[in-house]
Amino acid sequence: MILVFAFVSFPCMIHLALHVLVPLSIAWSYGHWRNKPFWRPFLVMMATMAIDADHLLASPIYDPNRCSIGFHPLHTLIPILIYGLFCFSSKTRWVGVGLLLHMALDALDCL
Ligand SMILES: [Zn+2]
Repeated sequence: MILVFAFVSFPCMIHLALHVLVPLSIAWSYGHWRNKPFWRPFLVMMATMAIDADHLLASPIYDPNRCSIGFHPLHTLIPILIYGLFCFSSKTRWVGVGLLLHMALDALDCL
């Protein structure tokens, strides 16, 4: 992670940090509220970061000035609606929350 920070700009560092800190705070709050371990929902939400594998289809793979939402195939409307459906099942809820959170944080780059 430190190696990644050596090659990215400050806004990008903030973006990457939010992708960890926001799920961590949600998982921690959930664990504290429900008296359950926070690490499971946190790890599930971290695993949803794999959705960024669709960046490999773009050229360049990373462009700090590009809005991911609506550009990358798994960051478009139909998949986002499906991620929302994941939230309705208790078995896929954290996957859905993690994916929607990821989309919301990526959408911050579009402002
Ligand atoms: Zn993304």
